[in-house]
Amino acid sequence: MLYSEIADVFDRLEGTGSRLEMTSILSDLFRTLEPSSLRNIVYLSQGKLHPNFHGAELGMADKLVLRSVAFVSGVPESRIDELWKKEGDPGKIAESLIKNRKQASLFSEPLTLEKVLKNLTLIENAEGKDSQDKKMKYLSNLLMDSGPVEARYLCRIVTGRMRIGAGSMTILDALAEAFGTKADRPDIERAFNITCDLGFVAETLALGGVDAVKDIKVAVGSPIKVMLAERLPSIPLILDRMEGRCAMEFKYDGIRVQAHIGKDSVKLYSRRLEDMTSNFPDIAAELRRQCRADEAIIEGECVAVDPDGNMLPFQNVTHRRKKHGMDKAVEDYPVKIFMFDILMAGGEDMTVRPFEERRSVLERTFDLSEMVKLTTMEIINTPKEGEDFFGRALGKKCEGIMAKSLSEGSVYRAGSRGFLWIKYKKDYEEALTDSFDLVVVGAFYGRGKRAGKYGALLMAVFDEETGEYCTVCKLGTGFDDAFLDSMPDMLDEYISEERPRMVDADMIPDVWFLPTVVLEVVAAEISLSPIHTAAKGIVKEDAGLGLRFPRFTGRVREDKGPEECTTVNEALSMFEMQSQNKES
Ligand code: AMP
Repeated sequence: MLYSEIADVFDRLEGTGSRLEMTSILSDLFRTLEPSSLRNIVYLSQGKLHPNFHGAELGMADKLVLRSVAFVSGVPESRIDELWKKEGDPGKIAESLIKNRKQASLFSEPLTLEKVLKNLTLIENAEGKDSQDKKMKYLSNLLMDSGPVEARYLCRIVTGRMRIGAGSMTILDALAEAFGTKADRPDIERAFNITCDLGFVAETLALGGVDAVKDIKVAVGSPIKVMLAERLPSIPLILDRMEGRCAMEFKYDGIRVQAHIGKDSVKLYSRRLEDMTSNFPDIAAELRRQCRADEAIIEGECVAVDPDGNMLPFQNVTHRRKKHGMDKAVEDYPVKIFMFDILMAGGEDMTVRPFEERRSVLERTFDLSEMVKLTTMEIINTPKEGEDFFGRALGKKCEGIMAKSLSEGSVYRAGSRGFLWIKYKKDYEEALTDSFDLVVVGAFYGRGKRAGKYGALLMAVFDEETGEYCTVCKLGTGFDDAFLDSMPDMLDEYISEERPRMVDADMIPDVWFLPTVVLEVVAAEISLSPIHTAAKGIVKEDAGLGLRFPRFTGRVREDKGPEECTTVNEALSMFEMQSQNKES
């Protein structure tokens, strides 16, 4: 297959703002592809060669890509650097320079998908002292044979920023349209939620249809999208919602880990389903030792502890996220894992079982130890019991409690946030709102003391239904000098010349960013705002939801991707919670 056919489809996707149209462009393409090519093209459309959880990254830096572009186009690097400062997107620069290239190489031949995949794999595997040179060579080799549009997407694939706006939900829509009907969409989405591998789901569909997809099972090594909790403002309201009776667990403040325990090896995934095994080698080994089953998938919270085993605040466990010096961090920052769920045991899918059954299988499957613990859990029947339990959780330095439904239908709902789990934190008692995890979509240049730097950021929540990022506040408080200085390093690689199509904003910042970086923000109140676009028109015509007095907490949520940030629906439920709080 010619790579230009795929690049043309990417170009058409980029040119439309309509999700329906994107779905139809993609489904037309999907129907015509061999199953294995389909799998690869699904990954490429996300700027990857593999599913997200696969450790290897193409990850070429912009500067390196631009050196290839300079080499292939014959334009001096200094000129390209100037263009980059203005444009920010190496893909566009490559496109325009290749368009103006005087003549193509005499030996140039049409690029095939196979050749592109081969060279991308070489780029991914390049190692050693001269790895940068090798990467540049393999990319240049592809660019030599590229037309302008092909070059644009090659440069974007290797940097991992496709800018075509086709997220995983659009791909799932297109797969349903290509290989089934609308009614099959939930089965296809479930397969994605329990494997996190869009390419694999696509290939399975193309090979065996919807029936084959329904047969996909949870398995060690395929991370499962995590289940998430709703929130309510008081314990009586939680009990009401849970029909008078629920399980309550301490809510530990650490890092969520999904452990895939195989016969001889263990893999740990973060909440974003990145491989974190090397950050917690001690936990991985201890889980294998303490697990009675050959295979199991469990979830738990990894929490830092002091030498006496007392829990320490979240910041301590983040030392384990460092890239280097892990041996020392393992020694200096001991951790425990508090297990709260089991998703597979001895090859059997537990996600379809109710909570109580899962909990008892979890208890039976592990021998506990100093490092491997279960969350403290109790069955709660009255508000008084709930308040006491909450008090004990705070006494143990926990964030609050997690209430869990005991109903027949209390399955593990991979990838969804619902009222089967409800969180209740100390902050809800004191403040009107919970903290928010917001995505940076823009920046405003600073003035006065902040001149020459970014002075404030435009922040957004995620609308799961439309796939858009809608603004909720301009954030300028809570930044210390070190953070202000670090902003360009953290953000500039995501600069977008225009408003990214997935950003819905009325406020215009000085600089736009592709939604990528997530920051934790607290605010005094959620109010109705005519200038922000989150939930616009839902509570009041012509007004969206905005945050009053937003402040950065200092916590960059590296563990969250943009799609895992606070959603429009969550902001709406917090707005309602705040109204109820005010009334009471
Ligand atoms: P939040 O990050 O505020 O949405 O709260 C949900 C997170 O709480 C989960 O993703 C877990 O990392 C964490 N957590 C702590 N304790 C528990 C527990 N007992 N059950 C489930 N999640 C927990």
